[in-house]
Amino acid sequence: MTDYSRGCAFIDGDYVPIAEAKIPILDWGFLHSDATYDVAHVWEGKFFRLPDHIERFQHGMQALRMSIPFGAGDIEAIMIECVRLSGLRAAYVEMACTRGLPEPGSRDPRSCKNRFFAFAIPFVWIADPDKQLSGLNLRISLRQRIPPESVDPVVKNYHWMDMVMAQFDAYDAGCENVVMVDARGNLVEGPGFNIFTVAGKTLKTPARGVLEGVTRKTAIDLAESNGFRVERCEVPADQARAADEVFLTSTAGGIIPVTRLDGVALGDARPGPVSLQLREQYWALHDDPEYSTPIDY
Ligand code: PLP
Repeated sequence: MTDYSRGCAFIDGDYVPIAEAKIPILDWGFLHSDATYDVAHVWEGKFFRLPDHIERFQHGMQALRMSIPFGAGDIEAIMIECVRLSGLRAAYVEMACTRGLPEPGSRDPRSCKNRFFAFAIPFVWIADPDKQLSGLNLRISLRQRIPPESVDPVVKNYHWMDMVMAQFDAYDAGCENVVMVDARGNLVEGPGFNIFTVAGKTLKTPARGVLEGVTRKTAIDLAESNGFRVERCEVPADQARAADEVFLTSTAGGIIPVTRLDGVALGDARPGPVSLQLREQYWALHDDPEYSTPIDY
């Protein structure tokens, strides 16, 4: 019997163990980062906000002029089947579309046959639950994120070279992760997450130059229902340094407290009450049928 326990992928019409899933090296997704993707997670055997992720993915494909022979219902069924075959109860589940291969000799993107694939692998954390309770030391990068005028961050993409090099800078400086800035020194986002500041009863999160994260939206809705004001606006780095709390949001870990910026403690260097409350409410929402899609293993 095929062993999918390390993960399962759907590619070129077949389900295969993750280690066997391959794409041709001439695919423009690989050669040019010409691709869009989305990631949902499965927690305790249930997808969280799967339709929101599929909708964002479909919007991305449309924006990049890609098309695949699968609709939202097909994509959902494929994602569920990848998880079901893997047997994973906590999984990182990706759907992706690459530009594919052009006709031989052509450099015309219109001649490419777009390729869809999906996979489920064991859950991936930006910071695991223990680390979340001690809080992250986050570097504020000196590198700018690719501007939104060049590559639209609302379309989830593989243009990560700026963020990966910024991660190396962060590790060299003794930090655990990194948030990028724009040309004017405002915070934008980091490798796989959005960012929030908390000052009194006001939360702020960057409005521009970011992916509109599903976790970001969940945090905004929760905070507003708790009576906080949430502003989508510019967030200068100095404002974050002066904030009561800072937290990150990501499908790869939920709501993640930051307790140091560039090594300097925020308050008493412990996760703040607002971050912790939102984090608890976020995980509790996973039991709400309105937000979850259970897997029938
Ligand atoms: N920003 C970037 C660049 C991302 O890659 C991600 C997710 O991977 C996020 C933000 C957070 O989005 P979500 O909450 O939908 O996972």
